Amino acid sequence: MNRMSDASPASATPPDLGALADQCVMCGLCLPACPTYRVARTEAESPRGRIALARALANGELAPQGAALAHLDHCLGCLSCERACPSGVQYGRIIDASRAQTAAAPDRLQRLLYFFAARPRRLQLLARLSHGLGLHAWLANRARRRPAGLPQRRLGHWLAQIPPLPALPARNSQAIAAAGGRGRIGLFLGCVASAFDRDTHAAARQLLQALGFSVVEPPGQACCGALARHAGHLAQAQQLAAPTREAFTAAQVDTVLVSASGCLPALRDHTLAGTSVQVREISEFLAADPGFAALAFDPLPRRAALHLPCSLDGRGGVATKKILQHIPELDIVELPVQPRCCGAAGTHFLRHPQIALPLRDERIAQVRAQQVSLLLTSNIGCRLHLDSGLRAQGAAVEVLHPVTLLARQLKAATPTPTAIAAPA
Ligand code: SF4
Ligand code: SF4
Repeated sequence: MNRMSDASPASATPPDLGALADQCVMCGLCLPACPTYRVARTEAESPRGRIALARALANGELAPQGAALAHLDHCLGCLSCERACPSGVQYGRIIDASRAQTAAAPDRLQRLLYFFAARPRRLQLLARLSHGLGLHAWLANRARRRPAGLPQRRLGHWLAQIPPLPALPARNSQAIAAAGGRGRIGLFLGCVASAFDRDTHAAARQLLQALGFSVVEPPGQACCGALARHAGHLAQAQQLAAPTREAFTAAQVDTVLVSASGCLPALRDHTLAGTSVQVREISEFLAADPGFAALAFDPLPRRAALHLPCSLDGRGGVATKKILQHIPELDIVELPVQPRCCGAAGTHFLRHPQIALPLRDERIAQVRAQQVSLLLTSNIGCRLHLDSGLRAQGAAVEVLHPVTLLARQLKAATPTPTAIAAPA
């Protein structure tokens, strides 16, 4: 669930793809920022090449099927190109509109993903069974023996990515005792994140309760729809997101917090767009809360690398660094070029490992060069992707969401900020 390109808000009018593509003056200044261009070194795998394809599509010079469209599919949606473009080209809207025009029906693997995205509890069960019985390793080994290109082999690659469920942190009784005085805050759990980021959600609960909020997690919430939306499957995206929209509107909360930064744009701009619910990224919320400075944290004399996902905007990155500074003695090393796509990009790492793995390994080499024992990242997709690479290399680096580290270090005798209003 990395993001990515969700630049356009929900709208009944499809964007004019030709007009958007015509904003590009073909200068090529975005090319060095593009991860797929760095890997492939071809024009077709660059933002400029993809914009040319989009223009040809809009002009009717390119059919909405065919091999050339694979280059659109390979795009990570990281928007590094948009950030680098001096002409203000809205690349995110271009790629979203192109994919909406060209997307084929979901393939077998995408259908499987959408099935689990709508049923997060079954995903948790699958992970538990898979690791409890050693099924994932057995199936992955079996699939690896099949010829390259077969769907069964791709399925094996997917199964090999299923990590164990993270352990839940111990409950902080001080945090629970403080809960409730400052109002109700909704917590979005997500689909993949509800299984593999459950330690992050427990940490978010602890911190919010220590700040005096009561945390609402309405049953029925599931996916934000980003997985399907990024693939151009807009009808499936709406279907997946509908229960989440209903759950949070019925829960009567003013604010919903998201810890997986890749879900934020879809949840804010589509799933809960047009409702009275405000969607906010958790680090930003915590950094802006006047009560946060009153929390006390135990020192942690460790060195941690900070990976800022491309789905985290500038404000989110600043806020993440700000809240981590509250942990005494923690040595935080920023990785080069932030934000940066590690290749996870929603389902990209599963569907296009030939692109995702070199990008992941490049990031991992930067992590290992820093000799850290912790890697912090705010997006579940990056966490899973980077963690699988570190495990494959036998590196003893724990990968966590920043709020998990904060909750671990939260002092038991934290003062209760009951008289402080919620941040605007
Ligand atoms: S969104 Fe990322 S991967 Fe796609 S063209 Fe832009 S920089 Fe390249
Ligand atoms: S997207 Fe922007 S930077 Fe890239 S080629 Fe077009 S105008 Fe130049």
